[in-house]
Amino acid sequence: MLKILCGLAASCLLATAAVQAEPIPADVAAKAKLLRDQALQDSIAYELVESLTMEVGPRPAGSAGDKAAVEWAVQMMAGLGFANVRTEEVDVPHWVRGDLAADIVAPYPQSLHATSLGGSPGTSVDGIEAEIVRVTSLDELRALDKEKLSGRIAYIDHRMEPSRSGAGYSAASRIRRCGHYIAAERGALATLIRSAGTSHHRFAHTGSLLNRGIPATIPGIALANADADLLTYQVLQGQPVNVRLKSTAHFLPREKSANVIGEVPGRGELANEIVLLAAHLDSWDLGTGAIDDGAGVAIVTAVAKMILDSGTAPRRTIRLVLFANEEFDLDGAEQYAKNHRAAITNHIIGLGADTGAGRVWSLRSRVAESSLDLVDAMHELLEPLGVERGDNRASGAPDLGPMRKASMPVLSLSHDASKYFHFHHTADDTLDKIDRDDLNQGVAAYVAITYVAANIDADFGRLTPDTRAKRSCSAEDDTWKSFPD
Ligand SMILES: [Zn+2]
Repeated sequence: MLKILCGLAASCLLATAAVQAEPIPADVAAKAKLLRDQALQDSIAYELVESLTMEVGPRPAGSAGDKAAVEWAVQMMAGLGFANVRTEEVDVPHWVRGDLAADIVAPYPQSLHATSLGGSPGTSVDGIEAEIVRVTSLDELRALDKEKLSGRIAYIDHRMEPSRSGAGYSAASRIRRCGHYIAAERGALATLIRSAGTSHHRFAHTGSLLNRGIPATIPGIALANADADLLTYQVLQGQPVNVRLKSTAHFLPREKSANVIGEVPGRGELANEIVLLAAHLDSWDLGTGAIDDGAGVAIVTAVAKMILDSGTAPRRTIRLVLFANEEFDLDGAEQYAKNHRAAITNHIIGLGADTGAGRVWSLRSRVAESSLDLVDAMHELLEPLGVERGDNRASGAPDLGPMRKASMPVLSLSHDASKYFHFHHTADDTLDKIDRDDLNQGVAAYVAITYVAANIDADFGRLTPDTRAKRSCSAEDDTWKSFPD
């Protein structure tokens, strides 16, 4: 839009020449608004997550459920009319939770509600019975000498606090992934952690033990928050506390899984450029994977379907990827980045959904500085949904990490996570935790910005590749930023 602020003809010309074109053409903005408003009334996202959770259910990597989920996704994408529906093979671990018994045997015997963490080895048939050594942080654990921990069970008692941003999960999940390596180096027989979750129900939160794919050598077990309170109480009484653990967790041979891909083809000269939409198809085994990540699968698929049905093909190709095995160690995401390395610069932006079905409250980004005006203009389309403009330091969804590190810019919509970590990775991750209106508000936000990204001339620049080695469990890497500034 030209701003006529001048009186004399000569200065008027100068002023109009200096004014830049609007970052989003009016017709594209109008269509994005239309799709946004339509999404609020739509039912496809809910139907998708309902079908995935009710007909497939739990789908941990390598399991029969995982294979059923791949089949479900292929059929679903073909049925919805996406183009180029295909799978790309991913090699995945196959871990089995087995049975677990965790009991305090002294001083005040009680059974504990607990669960094995993903990738944990089991115990011998007789189990492990040993004294508890309680710490509250990885630093405290690192400071223990071998004499103190050898032959005992390390108990890491760090409580995750709920918040809208879910900020506490980073530290809590790092304790889950790193505590057992540090404890094993000091001779511990097993690790117990307070769950990386904010719930008050009596379910323990599972999650992966693996960091950089390095196998765990001692059992790692999570306690429900209430049971961690119980154990902490007994430890703080000052007498030795002994716990017995028996677990049949184990690995089976590795299996084949797949990333499932479908497209809304672009048209014209930008058709070979890709707007990448991501969610992960796998889930943990305890619940039915409704919020993690059935909701994400539903949101990004609904977005692609709405644009497919909108009447005109987008200018850029919208590629929907449902990734394999996010939960253990991002196998599907790593494989995708490997397979598509040569086409990295065609991936002009990535947008993923992997924090549940809560209402979207912020648009964050990690794009070139020169593209910030464009993201600000996209944000204006989301203001009626109550979405704030966040910073330009987003990591994006975990599955986008390998592509982002290789220079792909990302957009990230933050879902309200105040309740997400009550249910995340527990038996309580089921469909009834999803509110249809909140889910649709998310679809509305995603579809508006996806439509714009796929239909404008401008792009989002490129990021400087992040060539650092993966984060280790060293103290120096405790403060690691997912992307250097
Ligand atoms: Zn997830």
